[in-house]
Amino acid sequence: MLIYTDYKENRLQRRLPIPDSTAKLIREQQATVRAAFPHSKPAQLVLLPAATANLDGTKPLRARVLTNIHRTWVDRLPEFVLSDGGVFPASTVVAYAYRHSYAQRHADAGTPIDVLRELIGHRSVHSTEAYYKITEARTRAAVNRVAQHQFDGAGNRIWRNVTTLSDSERTRMRVGQIAVPYGVCTEPSNVQAGGGACPFRFRCLGCGHFRTDVAYLPELKAHLDRLLADRERVLAATELEAWAKEEATPSDIEIDKLRALIRRVEAHLDDLATDERDQISEAVNVLRATRRTVSTVIDLGMPTRPAADPRTVRAAGR
Ligand code: SF4
Repeated sequence: MLIYTDYKENRLQRRLPIPDSTAKLIREQQATVRAAFPHSKPAQLVLLPAATANLDGTKPLRARVLTNIHRTWVDRLPEFVLSDGGVFPASTVVAYAYRHSYAQRHADAGTPIDVLRELIGHRSVHSTEAYYKITEARTRAAVNRVAQHQFDGAGNRIWRNVTTLSDSERTRMRVGQIAVPYGVCTEPSNVQAGGGACPFRFRCLGCGHFRTDVAYLPELKAHLDRLLADRERVLAATELEAWAKEEATPSDIEIDKLRALIRRVEAHLDDLATDERDQISEAVNVLRATRRTVSTVIDLGMPTRPAADPRTVRAAGR
């Protein structure tokens, strides 16, 4: 937990959950500053001390100096090439933009709005809502794109001719299906029951109500691995009677069908042109993020530490 002062809103003792990697970086910087000012009380030291007129390490680096150091660092990085071949403008990479990126990535990852509002310290939820509108627009585009690459359990394409879903089609897709471990179920009574009332003992691969898409490829493969491991374990078990063993063993038909479905989805992806595959891959990332169940603390990744910059070292008081 990072405990900090929100000077903008004049709020003390704000708490921000941070991943271990960020905490480690901060502790290393604290150790550097303490070593540089051994005669000052640690509680009075600032994390980024000013390089001049700062004998006791209590004077912070001015924002303008930090901005300049950051700009030099960004300008030294290689170009930010986007998946469509365009170049992301380095001039827009400013320190304050990290706050927006942080909030947007949380919204994209499905963090509840009240949690995000607390994390970024908005007094009004209306300010936080803007991030979810962007997420919604991205998700719509991703659903449109991935919908064209949906399959049933037998490997047949479902929406072959669809290019753009209308709002009503998208809504129907949302309310007319429920998630199962490696796809979705469209069986009305099961959907109405929230997914807990499958009339067919969850034999999804052989069920006409099952759908999957390219975004579920990792889950399909994981399920295949699980079935193969289960089969080995059950076959090796000595404590099971023959009938129980037979019932507990995943069937060869199920394993073969799953293998065929995985091959079908992979072959379909291979057949796409490179740019279309890249677009699908981007859409899949968006969908997987919104499908993921998230906890409050998400490691959203930090820039890796650049090689020691002489000005940074000087700023730390060495
Ligand atoms: S077996 Fe069919 S009805 Fe049951 S959960 Fe799977 S897709 Fe739905």
